[in-house]
Amino acid sequence: MYISLTFRTKRDSFSPLTLAMIAENIKILEEKIRLKCSYCNRDRSDIKLIAVSKTQPAQIIVEALDSGINNLGENKAQELRDKAELINGNFVWHFIGHLQTNKVKYVIKSAEYIHSVDSIKLADEINSKAKQIDKCQKILLEINTSDETTKYGLKEEKDILELADYCMNLSNVKLAGLMTMAPFTENEKVIRSSFAELRNTKEKLNSFGFNLAELSMGMTNDYEIAIEEGSTMLRIGTAIFGERKYN
Ligand SMILES: *Cc1c(COP(=O)(O)O)cnc(C)c1O
Repeated sequence: MYISLTFRTKRDSFSPLTLAMIAENIKILEEKIRLKCSYCNRDRSDIKLIAVSKTQPAQIIVEALDSGINNLGENKAQELRDKAELINGNFVWHFIGHLQTNKVKYVIKSAEYIHSVDSIKLADEINSKAKQIDKCQKILLEINTSDETTKYGLKEEKDILELADYCMNLSNVKLAGLMTMAPFTENEKVIRSSFAELRNTKEKLNSFGFNLAELSMGMTNDYEIAIEEGSTMLRIGTAIFGERKYN
């Protein structure tokens, strides 16, 4: 892995203990993921572990990359752009947050996947920016599987079908799958049914001839349920980096 040299030297500003903790967190998380995979007869290699590095400084992210992480997720467009300029290496960026059309330009170069497409307007803008740099942008449709009105994402089946169909006709966009966030609750049944709904929606689309492979679901508090329900992309921040500090 190549990481720019300017960065390597800056790593000294973090205590060895902080860095060791991240390596340890990843090791523990990986063991739990493997255990859950074997419990439900799934292949570990069918699931991408995306380390959600939002708010984390580059030096901390480098430690995660050195500890075996090869997918990173950010939810703010400029933050992804800035970090992508700073950190180089053999890993993949995912944009997982809500994306305004005027900010597509910040993520188009570096994001391998954009998880949060929920309108024709946004799909069009992604297609046009991708075309400019001769790229085929992989996207996921964000689905609202909870009853919380504050969440982004598509809810109605006809809207989902319409947007999926629309994306198939865009030259520089590849629709790879679906993404959701479970409702904020401790009720396991509610979380599970939200993930099951995403899987059922994918299967329904595939029965209509779409060829979607990815289910982006599962965060720190619910990733084990997500694995049981078929997740192929886990988006995990806190379990890797600890509680986020916002300032
Ligand atoms: C922050 C974030 C995550 C990770 O959340 P954790 O609970 O820290 O694992 C996952 N997905 C999205 C869209 C996020 O914004």
